[in-house]
Amino acid sequence: MAEGTFGNPEVIQEEVDILLIGGGMACCGAAYEVMRWAEAAKADSGIDIKIKLIDKAAMDRSGAVAQGLSAINTYIGTEQDPADYARMVSNDLMGITRDDLAYDLGRHVDESVHLFEEWGLPIWKTDENGERHDGSKGLPALKDGGKPVRSGKWQIMINGESYKWIVAEAAKKALGMDRIQERVFIVKLVNDKNDPKRIAGAVGFSTRDHKVYVYKFKACLLAAGGAVNLFRPRSVGEGQGRAWYPVWNAGSTYAMAAQAGAELTMMENRFVPARFKDGYGPVGAWFLLFKAKAVNSLGEVYMDRNKEMLNDYPPYGLAAVPASCLRNHLMLKEMKEGRGPIYMDTVTALAALKETLSPREVKHLEAEAWEDFLDMCIGQCGVWVGENIEPEKKNSELMPTEPYLLGSHSGCCGIWVSGPDDLGAPTTEEFTGMPDYLPKGWNWGYRSMTTVKGLFTAGDGVGASGHKFSSGSHAEGRLAAKAMVKFVIDNKDWKPELDTPAEKLAEDIYKPVRTFLEFKDYTTAIDVNPNYITPKMLQFRLQKIMDEYVAGVATYYTTNAHMLAVAEEKLGMLKEDADKMRAKDLHELLRAWENYHRILTAEAHMKHIQFREESRYPGFYYRMDKNFVDEENWKCFVNSVYDKETQKWTVFKRKHVDLVDKSK
Ligand code: FAD
Repeated sequence: MAEGTFGNPEVIQEEVDILLIGGGMACCGAAYEVMRWAEAAKADSGIDIKIKLIDKAAMDRSGAVAQGLSAINTYIGTEQDPADYARMVSNDLMGITRDDLAYDLGRHVDESVHLFEEWGLPIWKTDENGERHDGSKGLPALKDGGKPVRSGKWQIMINGESYKWIVAEAAKKALGMDRIQERVFIVKLVNDKNDPKRIAGAVGFSTRDHKVYVYKFKACLLAAGGAVNLFRPRSVGEGQGRAWYPVWNAGSTYAMAAQAGAELTMMENRFVPARFKDGYGPVGAWFLLFKAKAVNSLGEVYMDRNKEMLNDYPPYGLAAVPASCLRNHLMLKEMKEGRGPIYMDTVTALAALKETLSPREVKHLEAEAWEDFLDMCIGQCGVWVGENIEPEKKNSELMPTEPYLLGSHSGCCGIWVSGPDDLGAPTTEEFTGMPDYLPKGWNWGYRSMTTVKGLFTAGDGVGASGHKFSSGSHAEGRLAAKAMVKFVIDNKDWKPELDTPAEKLAEDIYKPVRTFLEFKDYTTAIDVNPNYITPKMLQFRLQKIMDEYVAGVATYYTTNAHMLAVAEEKLGMLKEDADKMRAKDLHELLRAWENYHRILTAEAHMKHIQFREESRYPGFYYRMDKNFVDEENWKCFVNSVYDKETQKWTVFKRKHVDLVDKSK
């Protein structure tokens, strides 16, 4: 076919065995691991497994780790074991997580960290005299007994500005650039023509050229991160590109999985991080490494002042480290009762350190405070410089952000996946309202496979776990890769057939472009037209609905059944109008499709909050008509499936079981 044009893209079809969607931590892990097993398969049985990785951006700087990080948040080491880890994950997420997934991750995650170190990531170490060294500086590697500098029980410090670059380089080297395609946005998964409960392909478009790509495959890893910008952000105007969560992960994982028929889990869960105001800079190093406290405007430590409030939420509030949402809950009381702003008391923390450290060591520590931002959130340095903030002299404001949906940080929404088969997870289970065709129990064959045959996920995609962070997402990608190779070998004679012709898929993708071309001359102002809506305006509408009715910042994270009913109606109308989105260029086409993904993700979030008749995550959201945690009736998973034909959701309960003793 001739080269594509704006209105008429070239359609390129390709068949592989395994498609990796995303180029973030999970897919980098998968890319590294998949080749080891694919090469073994070739050597053992002569099967030549074809693999391709697709990223909407450039892998060196794509995904949540794009700017770099200053700590790896999950490293088990010799001090803890995977059961401790599963316990921590469970408590932080108010008791409803899958111990099989957390434990399995806990026993594999350190190997990813050891690989990062081998690939050149500098990890801070303590020497035999207890002295701290930034970077590895010739001390033993972690795997050889090197002692990491821990900023917290699970976190280890790194010089991580180039973290993603290093991890991506290893993935690229393993896979080879001819198996990688960057700047292609995957829009839709395609089910198999002969088996609608199976996945057979995916379709996407180039964000640089007028090309649509249609892939067929036997197995696919969908790991396109979490979701940001469903809610009106606190940043305004030109600042809107700034959010805590990277603005390029638009809910593609959840939306595409839902459309393919995969069972979602805990989509009511969200993360509302309390971060440095306006720059969204990280607080972990300040709390954990510098031992700073957060205070109200009167200088009172609200975690002490309001500690009685934790008694309302046993056992999650009574743990040594109360659940993240409850820490927000105590902060919000201060803000609502007019004792804001909330500050990170950097002045007192640094003064206290000065009492025990030499002036040289203090200077070094101050440099580390700046470096913490420079490593992973340069914008926060901009705020400090612009507002004349010297942390030893002036405290910095903290603020709870707008809500984000994710499954690998301190959140657990995502997709229901098959777990490991050796940890005693239930093989049958109780449920209410679950459609018959869904698998019973927590294992149905291949680790990390969703309830759709051939569709796997990892990182932010895997629900009901959480606290995997960068290292855990990488490890989870590796686990999925190994299982996918097995799946491909077991299905080597199966041929994928798409349920929709490639031309129709391309036609659907380019619809916003065609809408624009058809109507653009109707008015003289390109953005004002009764026949179309710009992606930007549509995004504003979505964010306004979510903010005002689904517990955004406008209502201090509160909602109720009536507000949710209004949201439901308005989202329905938004979906109708979304059909009229225009794309005046490829950039807008990307924005349009991100919006489609956001809308479906937002709808899932709303539906789950509506279904769960309690407030499981106080501080992240409150159902004010059910403002309590109801352990008796709601200590269960809330799961759902979406029917792409009827566009209806079925939401139901699956029983929760503890596999790890939580009384320890
Ligand atoms: P990501 O790494 O975000 O990757 C998603 C990938 O999908 C990207 O390559 C993206 O370009 C691609 N993509 C998205 N949509 C599409 C599409 N439609 N088609 C094709 N490609 C697509 N962890 C730590 O260990 N320490 C920390 O200090 C830390 N701090 C964090 C701070 C922030 C602000 C955030 C958001 C996360 C932080 N994490 C930290 C967690 C860590 O970054 C994530 O757990 C991890 O990146 C998740 O991996 P992932 O592969 O699921 O998603």
